[in-house]
Amino acid sequence: MKILKIAAKKKLLLLTMMVVVLTGTFITGSSSTEAKSKKVQYLGKYKLTAYCGCKRCSGGYGNRTATGRKAKQGRTIAVDKRKIKLGSKVKIKGKTYVAEDVGGGVKGKHIDVYFKSHKKVKQFGRKNNVKVYKIKK
Ligand SMILES: [Zn+2]
Repeated sequence: MKILKIAAKKKLLLLTMMVVVLTGTFITGSSSTEAKSKKVQYLGKYKLTAYCGCKRCSGGYGNRTATGRKAKQGRTIAVDKRKIKLGSKVKIKGKTYVAEDVGGGVKGKHIDVYFKSHKKVKQFGRKNNVKVYKIKK
């Protein structure tokens, strides 16, 4: 009977330890993104739309961005310069983009994400309340 009790206690201890370890991993897992917040600045929730180099999206500007650099999918985003300075690195959903373009329709908390094809633009659609961070230099 005594042995059984000890075994049960050991089991409980093991279980507690597992829970501690698991929650520990969970906390560190979530705090690792929080830890990076020292280097990133939360800008708020933004509306995301997409554009490409086509006439309808760019109004004839094509792939040429406001900075003179050619737009690139996965890097280029258009921003409101009053909100985000051109050249800033911006983190959206874990991906890092560069604010290197502006747009007539991009005002306030709105980011236009560049895509290489209009098909992808349509796929992207519009996303509201997306958390956006600026990466500090
Ligand atoms: Zn387009």
